Amino acid sequence: MIWEAIIDFVFPKVCVGCGIGGSFLCKECKNRLDFVDQICPMCGEGSLMGWTHSRCKDRYGMDGLIAIYEYQEPIARAVVDGIKYGFNRELISIALKDFRFETGECFDFLIPVPLYFYRENWRGFNQARELGEVVGSKLLVPVENILERKRNTKQQVMMKTREERENNISGAFVVGNEWKGKLRKKKLLLVDDVFTSGADMRECSKMLKKAGAEVVWGLALAH
Ligand SMILES: [Zn+2]
Ligand SMILES: [Zn+2]
Repeated sequence: MIWEAIIDFVFPKVCVGCGIGGSFLCKECKNRLDFVDQICPMCGEGSLMGWTHSRCKDRYGMDGLIAIYEYQEPIARAVVDGIKYGFNRELISIALKDFRFETGECFDFLIPVPLYFYRENWRGFNQARELGEVVGSKLLVPVENILERKRNTKQQVMMKTREERENNISGAFVVGNEWKGKLRKKKLLLVDDVFTSGADMRECSKMLKKAGAEVVWGLALAH
């Protein structure tokens, strides 16, 4: 492919972890990456398999979260940032390789958490959507852009308390018109690159469950 050859020339394959040439993540850095311990998406405390604690269950809340890496870990952060700014699918596949998870659910749709349009980069790359495509083809679950972002929000890092973050995000997502009335009893998997405070995913879950969804899980590359 001539186009790929040009891309390789302009953006040579170098490891995001150590800078060595040849691949986007060298074997050594990949081996140093550990899969992260799972947490409950509602309270952020540890939870076996990422299931929401029974004490944290909430009518519109998430039912569980699958996270792959620890965002604080330097190589994991380089991978997540490499995907966000480096617009390559190959790195996504490498990052997801060997990761297995079991939620006990059979999902109907996989939904990328939408970005506000100007946060997408110059190629219109949305890392949540790209990640969704790769995960969707692995799980054989169709990827659908069921949610739309209605307005932008302040950067969540500026928000100090959980309450501030939830207020900031409240009303930011809506179920697209063509999906209204079609989500009853559906089992959905939200996908995003990073689960930090989790306010975005919890708000998405709320909108989907209000629209009739029965189960909402999240999958994030890192937390
Ligand atoms: Zn490396
Ligand atoms: Zn909990």
